Amino acid sequence: MNCHSCGTQLVSVITDLPFKLGKKRIVILKDLPVLQCENCGEYLLEDMVMAKIEDVLDHVDSSVELEILRYAA
Ligand SMILES: [Zn+2]
Repeated sequence: MNCHSCGTQLVSVITDLPFKLGKKRIVILKDLPVLQCENCGEYLLEDMVMAKIEDVLDHVDSSVELEILRYAA
């Protein structure tokens, strides 16, 4: 798969990404497998990973403003 921005081939990397939920809440997911462009830094989440993230975010405690979770494949 190639980068949408510059067309460079994407590579699989493991990284940490923050996800904003509403105005105040942020969830940081650690050890997330993403496809990243080495040229411009753009990244892409695979559908399977995205679905899992949505599932994880659905179950986050809604009373905390910042939560750090580990993504488990
Ligand atoms: Zn790129």
